[in-house]
Amino acid sequence: MQRIDGAAIAAKVLEETRARAVALAERGIRPGLAVVLVGDDMASRAYVRSKDRRAAELGFHSVKKELPASTTQAELLAVVNELNRDPAVHGILVQSPPPPHIDEAEIVRAIDPCKDVDGFHPVNVGKLAMDDPTGFVPCTPLGCIRLLAEAGIETTGRRAVIVGRSMIVGKPMALLLMRKGVGGDATVTVAHSRSRDLAAIVRSADIVIAAVGRPHFLGAEHIREGAAVIDVGINRVDDSAAPKGYRLVGDVDYDAVADRCAAITPVPGGVGPMTIAMLLSNTVTAAERFNPRPG
Ligand code: NDP
Repeated sequence: MQRIDGAAIAAKVLEETRARAVALAERGIRPGLAVVLVGDDMASRAYVRSKDRRAAELGFHSVKKELPASTTQAELLAVVNELNRDPAVHGILVQSPPPPHIDEAEIVRAIDPCKDVDGFHPVNVGKLAMDDPTGFVPCTPLGCIRLLAEAGIETTGRRAVIVGRSMIVGKPMALLLMRKGVGGDATVTVAHSRSRDLAAIVRSADIVIAAVGRPHFLGAEHIREGAAVIDVGINRVDDSAAPKGYRLVGDVDYDAVADRCAAITPVPGGVGPMTIAMLLSNTVTAAERFNPRPG
């Protein structure tokens, strides 16, 4: 069984990204990432801090906007528009979920698609669906594709089952795996809460992508011998023995399935580190596109 080391692969992506940022710096360009947080959700705050820190470590121009929970839709739109106009900012991310009075879909649509490094704007969703490489692909599924590639897991002609159909993970993951060419060409099934006989569907997979949001949801009865498993889930479970009183587990019961799998990502240390690495990579891509090499 191959334990896919997401931390090591993310470190490799970050090194590549750093090299691209250095090449831009030689032309006087510094990639700029703006992260906007509304409210004081603790988990979101932690994500925003780590994105800001990682961006600064790579020498990016990093803008962190922490706005109060009372921020109105109009005020948030004004912040997004200001960042759209700021030539030092190449990537914009508004941390999800915002407070309930914010219309998140309208905020996403307000971001300049050329700065939408999360890949959630309808223009970028459309480009992914149309195999147009000039868009941005959402960071988590992009990270999963890279994990499969780095682990040497063939996708061509193989059967992939994705459990979960969200816009940020399941749906773009399906589009990526069914694309023509290397890293794609899979036969893709997407399962969700209405799927009948989920265990039989998932057991048919050579490659399982779990994006459900339920701790240890997939067990031995779901995974066939020799399958590769990418566990996107990040779930908190109470653990009185852990310093914080909880620990993080995936959507897959790792211990129950590990010895049947050809390869599996752990949680933590699998998909998680890849998401932020791909965000920074997308930001450098945005900066490169805003500043094409002459000729
Ligand atoms: P969503 O809640 O948006 O989607 C969950 C999906 O799982 C839905 O499509 C839902 O089906 C499906 N589902 C729920 N219950 C069942 C069930 N009993 N049987 C089959 N399918 C079911 O979650 P996200 O896609 O945003 O996230 C999924 C997980 O990935 C979470 O744990 C999240 O924390 C994690 N995550 C991790 C990231 C990382 O960086 N590693 C980034 C993003 C997310 P239906 O559509 O029918 O409701």
